[in-house]
Amino acid sequence: PVYAVWLRNDFRINDNPAIQKAVEVAASDGGRIVMFFHLHPEFLRDIDLQYDYFFQTLHQFRNDCQSKGIKVELLKGPVQEAFHTLVSSYPELKAVFCLEDYTPFGRTRDEEVIRFLLKYNVQLFPLEGSHIIHPEKIKKSDGTPYQVFTPYFRNWNRHIKPSLANSRIDDLKEYYVDPKEGKTSADNYFENELLPRCKKSWGSLGEKAAVNRLETFVEERLTHYHDNRDRPDYFGTSTLSPFIKTGALSVRMVYHSVSSRIDEAGKGAETFLKELAWRDFYAMIYYFYPETKNQEYQEKYRNIFWNRDEELFTKWKDGNTGFPIVDAGMRQLNQTGWMHNRLRMITASFLTKDYLIDWRLGEEYFSRKLIDYDEASNVGGWQWAASVGTDAVPYFRVFNPARQSVRFDPYGSFIKEFVPELTEVPEKYIHTPEKMTSEEAEITYPEPTVDHAVQRKKAIALFKGVEEE
Ligand code: FAD
Repeated sequence: PVYAVWLRNDFRINDNPAIQKAVEVAASDGGRIVMFFHLHPEFLRDIDLQYDYFFQTLHQFRNDCQSKGIKVELLKGPVQEAFHTLVSSYPELKAVFCLEDYTPFGRTRDEEVIRFLLKYNVQLFPLEGSHIIHPEKIKKSDGTPYQVFTPYFRNWNRHIKPSLANSRIDDLKEYYVDPKEGKTSADNYFENELLPRCKKSWGSLGEKAAVNRLETFVEERLTHYHDNRDRPDYFGTSTLSPFIKTGALSVRMVYHSVSSRIDEAGKGAETFLKELAWRDFYAMIYYFYPETKNQEYQEKYRNIFWNRDEELFTKWKDGNTGFPIVDAGMRQLNQTGWMHNRLRMITASFLTKDYLIDWRLGEEYFSRKLIDYDEASNVGGWQWAASVGTDAVPYFRVFNPARQSVRFDPYGSFIKEFVPELTEVPEKYIHTPEKMTSEEAEITYPEPTVDHAVQRKKAIALFKGVEEE
């Protein structure tokens, strides 16, 4: 018999339950193992930063495996066509193991794969391992899902966390079956057409880089995480999210590594674990309410008449709003594919409360740019900032961009890094350069495109209006 490991968002060997399971089963009946990735047509439409990073990570993983003598095969095309290639290449195929993907896309695709494979008597086994705790496992005492983070977190904290899977490259090698010699058409497509379109140089990619980053963070920054995590001008957070998204790093490994340091790292470790719980919380909300991708979680806010002004939306996307902290955040996103959490909150709040633009447009833009794009966390984060989600910021607490800037980038050093037009601006004007006279410095930076005080009132009125309907 042959068993397949289907990699999706889990480009790693360590703590990979799909690999562990395949090895166990193969060991029990003398089976062999193959590994593959499916280039679904959905992934191939638009190679913006998110997919550039994703495919380069896949490439790195394939190279890492190749150096150990293991080929990660590629399938291409719609589900039926791709899986037909798989079952034809391996008539002895008995089962496919993968990690669960709870997104609406993932669930629909997996159902289609299950139906198709059944015709060939092959079973698909999606296993836990992409989150710390499965959405079904933490519910209120009446069996319904939590809506509010704090009680969810209390329960999450008490819950026993799964231990790591014992998946090792040497075990895999023992049962691995060599595919036929030569390159397939999917290999050629990936190497000659797709990869050349992924042009960005990302520096460190893959499992080894991920584990190094985790270790450095835990050694050097975890203890002060709670003090520094809100400051974009500091290197205070872990920046592990792109590795967690691609699965180069197991989030369960991150959890265990940090929780084992809780005595030394105290509040830093506690605060960090709470952030990991937010990821599980949003995954849980999205699992039970997948319609929130397009629809406000709070019913009373579904009739808000959002603005769709193209010109303002372009200014926001390009980082030309005239509000330095917002522009610095957007340019960080456009240049690096990552944005600091505080800035995600500020830029999302700005789009929805200052420009009154539909949060769905912002969510979609982030989805193309963020290399750590996680549908559940992004939808959750956007609905939080727009005050329409579960446990969201109340609509009357509108972020003031200048005040946020003074608080979280006090010397303007982050702003100056990403908005070079403001390099010469003295510190006292860096958050509000429009207040500076031309004698003080000549700059080519736009005036604020809106009046925050006016827009704040409009935003509150918009919410009050639909509440009173
Ligand atoms: P750290 O502070 O070091 O946190 C460690 C890990 O905890 C993160 O890597 C992440 O896995 C998790 N985490 C931390 N904060 C959150 C949070 N608020 N929600 C969910 N998980 C969290 N995160 C994504 O991973 N993908 C997204 O697409 C995404 N979109 C967002 C959109 C908006 C509008 C907002 C406000 C937040 C979004 N977040 C998203 C959450 C958060 O901003 C990032 O997880 C964080 O900035 C990643 O950087 P880090 O790894 O240095 O985080």
